[in-house]
Amino acid sequence: MELKGKKVLVVGLARTGAATARFLARQGVRLKISEAKPAKEVEAARKALQNLPVEWELGGHTIQFFGEVDLIVVSPGVPMDIEPLMQARAKGIQVISEMELAFQFLRRPLIGITGTNGKTTTTTLIGEMLRASGRKAFVGGNIGNPLIEYVGGPQEEEWVVAEISSFQLEGIVDFRPHISVLLNITEDHLDRYPNFQEYIQAKGKVFQNQGKNDYALLNADDPLTFQFAHRVESQVILFSSQRTVPVGCFLEKGAILFQGGDGKKERFGLERLKIRGAHNLENLMAAIAGSKICGCPSEALQKVMEEFPGLEHRLEWVRDIDGVSFFNDSKGTNVGSVVKSLMSFREPVWLIAGGKDKGGDYSPLKNIIVTQVKGMTLIGEAKKRMLEALGGLTETVQLDTLEEAVHWAFSKASPGDVVLLSPACSSFDMFENYQDRGKRFKTIVQELSKHSLGKKSLTHGL
Ligand code: ADP
Repeated sequence: MELKGKKVLVVGLARTGAATARFLARQGVRLKISEAKPAKEVEAARKALQNLPVEWELGGHTIQFFGEVDLIVVSPGVPMDIEPLMQARAKGIQVISEMELAFQFLRRPLIGITGTNGKTTTTTLIGEMLRASGRKAFVGGNIGNPLIEYVGGPQEEEWVVAEISSFQLEGIVDFRPHISVLLNITEDHLDRYPNFQEYIQAKGKVFQNQGKNDYALLNADDPLTFQFAHRVESQVILFSSQRTVPVGCFLEKGAILFQGGDGKKERFGLERLKIRGAHNLENLMAAIAGSKICGCPSEALQKVMEEFPGLEHRLEWVRDIDGVSFFNDSKGTNVGSVVKSLMSFREPVWLIAGGKDKGGDYSPLKNIIVTQVKGMTLIGEAKKRMLEALGGLTETVQLDTLEEAVHWAFSKASPGDVVLLSPACSSFDMFENYQDRGKRFKTIVQELSKHSLGKKSLTHGL
């Protein structure tokens, strides 16, 4: 892609937008940046770019500003259907995502991981497995290090492993992972898509440019994901918890088996795993299959499986107080992930849910709430809609703050129970982001432990 001398607009100035701007400046473009937030909220990012000649638009996006450029690069947080982008497209201006721009300059084979849930966990696992096998790998994308930062550097790694969101896939043209992983598709982000079908289509784009020498790694148990097995050009590798698959991973007698194209099977024991939950077995199967395609030795993969502690805010054990276990699953931001998180416990659960409503259907939670949840407290903007969908299934209260919710759950819980924060919603109504919400939860739990004085064990001893 020849950019020198072109007028290029970057939309959105969070970390990825700023990295994109720096990259483009080095390519010799005439740079414009448009950001919806007002100047005072993006001061730090602007300062960091002060040495670059930039034409700025802050506090909103205008059709005029978007109309006079050769190319528009959109940051991951910005919806692709805002009016100025639609108008620019109608004028024939090319609109791409940061991922597409990065791909144009990428010189290493790419493993791209997408899906509604499990992306970060699986991306991290594959990165660890490659490294444990002595392969240098860059791990990034949606996970924190934008791909555009990587392609601006020397690109010394053997593999690039990238987490990809559906938003980034919307803005691709040639983007083509050598290995595309689609973990699952359940309802999410209906606040940003006109309907579920468009979200499914966006996820499927991860395969659209693949050829016969590439790989499509798919969840065979999820019909919305498995449908792509019949549509892709690339070689299909599957993983399944429910059945054997011709090539890929499946479960057998307490182990994960990987079956290669030659029919040879390799066994990965599950006895010493630190992470819990059937969903994490799916993530492990995807990571093993992906790493085996890259030629990693099985011993290295087994070692990573056994040592991987899980990630912060994903079904993270916080502590036990008086026999009650507290888990932080603040990243459980949609219904599908909360179902899987609840399925991970045999113990009765006191669930804390709610947050910013994304417009989806909460009713798929019904069955698991009936079987697994002893009581539930709803907080945040979504609490009314959640109560309409899920009220009357178990003891349910609406509360105003996370603190009240934790205290209520602890007051109700008996030794042996679990208190789980798994919101099924995003966090932006009450917190900066899901990390902020998870950290707040952990602080409240730690505070609680200072005042508990063994109250529960005492009550139950009487
Ligand atoms: P993502 O990056 O796609 O958001 P994460 O690995 O960060 O995925 O996990 C997010 C949430 O989804 C966590 O709450 C976790 O418990 C749940 N989760 C993780 N893997 C899966 C999976 N394979 N299927 C369903 N839920 C999952």
